Amino acid sequence: MEKEVEILKEWIGESERIVFFGGAGVSTESGIPDFRSQDGLYHQKYQFPPERIISHSFYQRNPEEFYRFYKDKMIYRNAQPNMAHKALAKLEQQGKLSAVITQNIDGLHQMAGSKHVLELHGSIHRNYCERCGKFYDLDYVADSLGVPVCSCGGRIKPDVVLYEEGLDNDMIQQALYEIRHADMLIVGGTSLVVYPAAGMVDVYTGHRMVLINMSPTGKDSQADLIVKGKIGEILGEVVD
Ligand code: NAD
Repeated sequence: MEKEVEILKEWIGESERIVFFGGAGVSTESGIPDFRSQDGLYHQKYQFPPERIISHSFYQRNPEEFYRFYKDKMIYRNAQPNMAHKALAKLEQQGKLSAVITQNIDGLHQMAGSKHVLELHGSIHRNYCERCGKFYDLDYVADSLGVPVCSCGGRIKPDVVLYEEGLDNDMIQQALYEIRHADMLIVGGTSLVVYPAAGMVDVYTGHRMVLINMSPTGKDSQADLIVKGKIGEILGEVVD
């Protein structure tokens, strides 16, 4: 076992209140592309840059194009949890992990069995009518033609935080509470460039901040340990 992986395993063994903070890289081993890796969505060619398509103003002005991209590139109905999701669920069951804080919208942590998941950017599994508030599941949206419409005639919007939209304040407070009270913070599969989410890790004041990523992040200098590699393989190796 690599030295860094050994230390990670040792720290997990000694910790009692681990918090995991993750991003799109957690789900690439489940076949869902991230945004900023070489084969991520931002390196593919679209009519508009993806960050513009998944913004609030674009959604308002051009819902047809938004939904064409969203259904094609953001929804992966057959994706299954990988070793990273499963290892984190196991740590929670063992009473060692208090929360998973995720920027992901795919619902794979819950599918793996994690109970306390704070979804900073919402979920593709929840969708609401903008007029009457009626709830719709993922299948309804994915199977609809073009822009999904409610039985009342209103437009249905996914409960995901688009660029230009604010995060839920209660969710932010819960996430900050968990990070402040953590005895170990594992940050994985995130480029840490999307704010305000990325700034949350700054409130951790302990001495066990671990970054697991395939490439450098903006917060490498803050980490107590950096483990380079695929997060599913790494967490699969260190969690029994
Ligand atoms: P990002 O694309 O900016 O960064 C992903 C990071 O993960 C990169 O640094 C990359 O090197 C790393 N990475 C990729 N695969 C990895 C692996 N197997 N193991 C370890 N590291 C790996 O993603 P982000 O920081 O989460 O920010 C982008 C936004 O993208 C988020 O707000 C999120 O809502 C959204 N998003 C979500 C999904 C999803 O729900 N699965 C997918 C794409 C984008």
